[in-house]
Amino acid sequence: MNKNIITTEDVIVPNNIPGIGYNYFNKMKEHASQNKIAQIVEKTDEKVSFESLLKRCIRTSMFLQKNGIKKDDVIALFGPKHVHSVVSFISSHFIGAIPTCVAYDYPENDIKIILKSIEPKIIFTDSKCLTVLKEYLRDIGLSAKFIVFGDCEEGFNFFDIIKPQAGEENFEPVKIDNIKNTAIIYYSSGTTGPPKPICISHYAMLANVINSFPKEPDMEVLNHYQKQFSNGFRFLDHLPLYWISGELSGWIQNGSTRILVEKFEALKFWEIVDKYKVNMTFIAPNSLMELSKCPKSEHLNVDSLCLIIVGGFHAKEECLAAVRKMMHPLSAVIPGYGQTELNGGTILFDVRDKKQGKYLNEKPKSVGMVVKGLSVKVVDLDTNEILGPNKSGEILMKGETCFNGYYKMDSKDCFDEDGYFRTGDIGYYDEDKCFYIVDRLKGIFRYSNFPKIASSNIEKIIMKHPAVKRAAVFGYPHPIDQNHVTAVVVLEENAQATSEEIRNFVDSQIEDYKRLRGGLKIVKELPLTLTGKIKTGDLKALVDGNLSSS
Ligand code: AMP
Repeated sequence: MNKNIITTEDVIVPNNIPGIGYNYFNKMKEHASQNKIAQIVEKTDEKVSFESLLKRCIRTSMFLQKNGIKKDDVIALFGPKHVHSVVSFISSHFIGAIPTCVAYDYPENDIKIILKSIEPKIIFTDSKCLTVLKEYLRDIGLSAKFIVFGDCEEGFNFFDIIKPQAGEENFEPVKIDNIKNTAIIYYSSGTTGPPKPICISHYAMLANVINSFPKEPDMEVLNHYQKQFSNGFRFLDHLPLYWISGELSGWIQNGSTRILVEKFEALKFWEIVDKYKVNMTFIAPNSLMELSKCPKSEHLNVDSLCLIIVGGFHAKEECLAAVRKMMHPLSAVIPGYGQTELNGGTILFDVRDKKQGKYLNEKPKSVGMVVKGLSVKVVDLDTNEILGPNKSGEILMKGETCFNGYYKMDSKDCFDEDGYFRTGDIGYYDEDKCFYIVDRLKGIFRYSNFPKIASSNIEKIIMKHPAVKRAAVFGYPHPIDQNHVTAVVVLEENAQATSEEIRNFVDSQIEDYKRLRGGLKIVKELPLTLTGKIKTGDLKALVDGNLSSS
């Protein structure tokens, strides 16, 4: 084995668990017998016990089976997230079907591409979304049955389905013969094209819930965690179910309480943490940025919040630091790195581990260390040579939890000849095996024959201008020079600055070949995915004026 390949210890999934649905079923039964609360809806303060959630899931599973749904059929959810949405996922898992959440607020064309590829047999939706959903299905020539959360003219009413049914006490979840089979479909963020359906296995989902003890535990941090978790673990969830970060397994495994918030609102965040004594949450970097500008009131006690994981794209160091300051000194805000194809977080610090906790403070620019169960290599972009510490190249990863491919699509090109997944991200690791992300491969381009330019380096300089809130840099194609460095910028609220002023600010700080020859355009909004990432594939159209900026 090449010494420059970083391989972490295996994750072990017990071979007596026949699938994630079987695991959920037994865990939920255990939590129900202990009268644990599964969900609290922040808006209404409604509480749902594990007992009641389990019954709803069993009844829905029985209904799906009566309607001919079998192992490996795809069941979709289409509509905003609410307290009942999870029933569609869990009940599909109970019967070995494959659940997926199609984002109802994606562009029409993307939704149609997704529906066409996954061909769901049944779709859970609400009466508002049903009309448009039927139109989309008609346009692409598909039909499906509907389960509607509420009254409707067509389809089955969810609330009828979850009424008591004969024989429900004898329900048994379906056992999966091969846990490497697909359990769930998530979607890629769609920064360069329509989101792709990503098949994640039962094995990968089970691996996520097997949470072993760190090798070198930091007892002070562990004691702090234990003290805060003494009344049960509570996590705040405001993420969509189509994003892997909104995944459910940890919550059901541990019998934690999920505090359900419709969407992230920085102004209400600390109040909710205090009210529900939240212990953990996951947020996107744009939410972190908002939060860093929203100081918590003195009278609120947020010591319960031990961990915020920030991921999805680059999180600014100063925002991480500002939010950390608002929390208990032993609590942590961690910038995790990962991708859906590799089952979520792949590089992050484990703050319960002494060494990693130390690195988190000492290396604020690092996204962390490789998690269990992966082999990671960094390869030279031109020669494909496997690189050692402190040399940037593309990050490639391999592991048992890696995805099964894009649903019904040829996915060979995503892997190298040794089966490593090409992340498309440029980065490096240091002598302590801590990783740093430099840019996306697609964010690297050339101006004429000069050295390669990384968009993110120029973005970081633009972001230093006090009037700039967010910036995106890309290579605008040029017939002679290959590309011209071009920027699109959103200003801070009430900030005044001209594009010329910002351009001069940037050009005066960089080498001549990196100057903004393609110009700098100020827009009201950048084209973003629903998870807040910049849709880089839309930037050229935005500069050309073919895409609205608000
Ligand atoms: P997704 O399609 O949501 O799975 O996005 C995965 C991609 O998000 C990665 O390949 C990275 O390009 C980007 N990403 C995720 N976390 C980070 C991070 N901490 N820093 C920079 N980029 C990130």
